[in-house]
Amino acid sequence: MHEFTAEVEALAQEVLAYSLDRLKNDPPLDGPRTAEDLFSEVGNTITARGLGGHHALEVFTSVLAKACISTDHPRNLAFIPSAPSEYANLFDLVVGASALYGGSWQEGAGAVFAENQALRWLSDLAGLPQSAGGVFVQGGTMGNLSALVVARAEARKKHPQATRWVIACSEEAHSSIVTAANVMDVDVLKVPVAANGKLMGSAVAAAIDELHATTSSRVFAVVATSGTTNLGIIDDLKGIGTAAHDRGVWFHVDGAYGLAALCAPSVRAKFDGVEEADSFIVDPHKWLFAPFDACALIYREPELARAAHTQHASYLDTLKDGAWSPSDYAIQLTRRTRGLPFWFSLAAHGTNAYTDAMEHTITVAQAAAELVRAHPHLELICEPELSIVAFVRTGWQAKDYHNWSDQLLADQVGFIPPSSHHGQPILRFAIVNPWTKVSDIEMILSRL
Ligand SMILES: *Cc1c(COP(=O)(O)O)cnc(C)c1O
Repeated sequence: MHEFTAEVEALAQEVLAYSLDRLKNDPPLDGPRTAEDLFSEVGNTITARGLGGHHALEVFTSVLAKACISTDHPRNLAFIPSAPSEYANLFDLVVGASALYGGSWQEGAGAVFAENQALRWLSDLAGLPQSAGGVFVQGGTMGNLSALVVARAEARKKHPQATRWVIACSEEAHSSIVTAANVMDVDVLKVPVAANGKLMGSAVAAAIDELHATTSSRVFAVVATSGTTNLGIIDDLKGIGTAAHDRGVWFHVDGAYGLAALCAPSVRAKFDGVEEADSFIVDPHKWLFAPFDACALIYREPELARAAHTQHASYLDTLKDGAWSPSDYAIQLTRRTRGLPFWFSLAAHGTNAYTDAMEHTITVAQAAAELVRAHPHLELICEPELSIVAFVRTGWQAKDYHNWSDQLLADQVGFIPPSSHHGQPILRFAIVNPWTKVSDIEMILSRL
């Protein structure tokens, strides 16, 4: 198994050649195929004797990989796509070749040290104290859940008499908040947003006070979204933070997509109030040019997270030497050093390059909004706060949007699945890729 034979050497060259080609030459968008269709082409790939490395790689590169949409294509503007830097992708190859264990300081000190410096950059951008810290987890869903578990653990200490626990957030909060509530068996209080789509501190204050005055349920966390996944709207962080803290409630900021723009001076003021967060998340795999999967989860007081999340077992006690072990800060034990590709790219390029790339995507989004406004058949839903441009096509029904989107992908022009807003179908561009050009937007708009 361990011998680096001539065969392994040859496969290594093939793997590198494929990876470099994928990085150098814009791959096509590609698209899904049915399982039946794939089976008819590749059959059962798991066999007693094995396909051999060369053949298995060929099955992947020539069939399976092409049935996966390229999330980093410059005209993939769906959901929140991804745009890892070349450096980040290359370093992911290093991580893959290194058998690093990222769960404990004892086993992964050097890697954890590097991850922590990348987390420090984000924490400093948000204005949290030097004592803040956290961990890279799989994604925003796991980040939100892990933070909310800490918030509840704290609330339980203060309010042992509470009968039900409640998370307050807006209707526009990400679906992972309701998922977290289901996992935790707690309730969700959906607080109405203002006319501009933002959750405001005053509304949060009123909703919490009413709930506490009329029931024995207690709000243990307020989740502000910054910005929302659908429209990119940033809640009133300052007001919500004050409303939460005046009531002794944990303030969590879900910035999986938007908080990436903390490094962009042109929009930094929109995040004022984030410095009051007890915890926040941002996904470098969304808008910070890192590959899947990496969510930065940061706590104002990491020792509270350690108290809530540390696993105890006889064989683990040797690790409890006071050193910083990433396992202790989220729902996980074994973990990949998933923050390292992000760290490497950040370390190599420098933070100015991140600011430039971020400002560039924001500029392209503004240009896209301008083009939508000028388009005879389109109506902008709101001014983009960050880099999501949402609009409607006048006169279209849901099926028109779906047909248009399907054809756009079939023609390999772009991937823009329809979304909805207030029950109406909409289209949206989520621009997180510095390689997305205004001409790409024009190409898509010309088909509307
Ligand atoms: C994407 C997103 C999430 C979930 O993140 P995953 O990494 O997909 O788990 C949570 N909150 C917001 C606001 C998001 O945009």
